Amino acid sequence: MGSPARIDEPMNGPSDIVIVGGGTAGWLAALMLGDITRQNPQASVPKITVIESSKIGTIGVGEGTTAVFRQMLQHFGLDERAFLRATGATIKYGIRHRDWRRLKHHYDGPIDDPSVLAPGIDLYSVASGKPVSAAHLFQPLMDKARAPVARKNGREIPAGPFHHAFHFDQSLAGAWLRGEVSGATIIDDVVNALERNSETGDIGALVLESGRRISGDLFIDCTGFRRALIGPMGGKWISYGETLPVNRALPFWIDLEEGEEIDPFTLAWAQKNGWMWRIPTAERYGCGYVYSDRHISPDEAKTEIEAALGRRIEPRNDIRIDAGRMDRTWIGNCIALGLSSSFLEPLEATSIHGTVVQLMMLTRWLTDPQGREKFNQAVAAQVDNFRDFIRLHYVSERRDSGFWHDLARNQPQTVRDRLELWQNKLPERGDFRPFPGNLPHVQEQLYTPVLDGLGLLNRAAAKTALGQNPKRRAQLRTAHQQLVRDHLRAASDCLPHRTWLRSLHQDDTA
Ligand SMILES: Cc1cc2nc3c(=O)[nH]c(=O)nc-3n(C[C@H](O)[C@H](O)[C@H](O)COP(=O)(O)OP(=O)(O)OC[C@H]3O[C@@H](n4cnc5c(N)ncnc54)[C@H](O)[C@@H]3O)c2cc1C
Repeated sequence: MGSPARIDEPMNGPSDIVIVGGGTAGWLAALMLGDITRQNPQASVPKITVIESSKIGTIGVGEGTTAVFRQMLQHFGLDERAFLRATGATIKYGIRHRDWRRLKHHYDGPIDDPSVLAPGIDLYSVASGKPVSAAHLFQPLMDKARAPVARKNGREIPAGPFHHAFHFDQSLAGAWLRGEVSGATIIDDVVNALERNSETGDIGALVLESGRRISGDLFIDCTGFRRALIGPMGGKWISYGETLPVNRALPFWIDLEEGEEIDPFTLAWAQKNGWMWRIPTAERYGCGYVYSDRHISPDEAKTEIEAALGRRIEPRNDIRIDAGRMDRTWIGNCIALGLSSSFLEPLEATSIHGTVVQLMMLTRWLTDPQGREKFNQAVAAQVDNFRDFIRLHYVSERRDSGFWHDLARNQPQTVRDRLELWQNKLPERGDFRPFPGNLPHVQEQLYTPVLDGLGLLNRAAAKTALGQNPKRRAQLRTAHQQLVRDHLRAASDCLPHRTWLRSLHQDDTA
């Protein structure tokens, strides 16, 4: 067995990268690491090999992304319209949380950030008893189910400066990303074993079912829940099972009706023993009931969700969820990404987001002698922060089942500390540990609408803070009126979401 180059020695990074897995994570890795020099001029252009297996399926559930996915498309010069057309993806402006605070209540979490346009606007909203989401551009776009563009004189005008997200079918998005990867060698086979250097422990080569050996100097594990590389490399799973209650998912589809408008938001609908996601793509809703099997059996979960929907469903799978992350996602010359690295219930679409951000970090740190340590620390912090943010959603007034009683009894200290901190002030950037490279992360702009929707922000404290500065209060009142007016007008000018999506296909054939 040859001795592979160590990652912490050469400064121009690995030259021979082997990616195992052809799911969303694998193709994102091939795309972003194959083009590493765009981000990092110090790096050399690596040879990329992707090993995927047609015998082992991908996870195959409907997905919601965050705005990072669109930023990634733009970064690589990939055409958003081509992506929408080819994958049947739809636009996502945020998440509608139904029945989380109490039954028959909902709140929205739009993902644009109006404080970029008017700093302090959230403080004004809370002090004056208005939902913070009202000042967001994405709120009327959600409510009116509009496209992100208006059409004037044959030209498309964006509704505003913010990045939206997408909903898509994972297998179609994966196939599209695969087509955008150029120059990679693709092998259809199963990795059966790792050949490791007896001194360093690094992987020298992978042994495939066909008997082939594939060598390389960096190996990326994108094998999903199988964790076929990082597991044997000694990665240990840190379970969040004590903090996050749901541990099973029942995915199913619901067809879109002919002519039905397509909601440009994910519906996250709290249930007695978990919650249901509903993600619209151009053809159907990808749905799933994520629940706690400590509180109900799979048969009861099916009955419960059918009763909530008032229709029968055909479950597509029965997925066990062990929420958590690897203790280290970069061990020796092996890096785990996607489901092999971490997994959380998909309440805030953190998974693909996490993978893209991790790849952004890797494109910088593959040439950094301290890269491995930095990466492991950053991924651990990233996923732990996702966990705390998701757990916050369960701070609820609901007590209509054992599930909700148990959640109220077992509130983690991290969540209690955060809630105490925000009793007297609104979340602000300084409350969060800086994230490397200022890359997108869960911070005040995502926390504030959720806290507000759950009734966890203190109006009296916000009033006091603003009362000390009447001039600022008056400025913010004017800014708020202006934003609401401008955003409503912009949304009204935009095309209906479904009409616009359909028009992309007409443009294609013109
Ligand atoms: C119920 C549920 C809902 C989700 N919803 C969302 C969401 O809304 N938003 C979001 O961002 N994320 C969501 N996710 C997570 C998201 O699905 C994943 O992050 C994403 O699809 C990436 O998956 P992956 O590529 O890591 O793994 P997979 O899709 O499982 O792909 C694994 C690949 O590895 C290959 N493979 C496995 N073992 C071997 C082997 N030994 N040899 C060769 N090849 C092998 C397989 O052939 C396959 O190509 C959800 C996940 C679940 C379970």
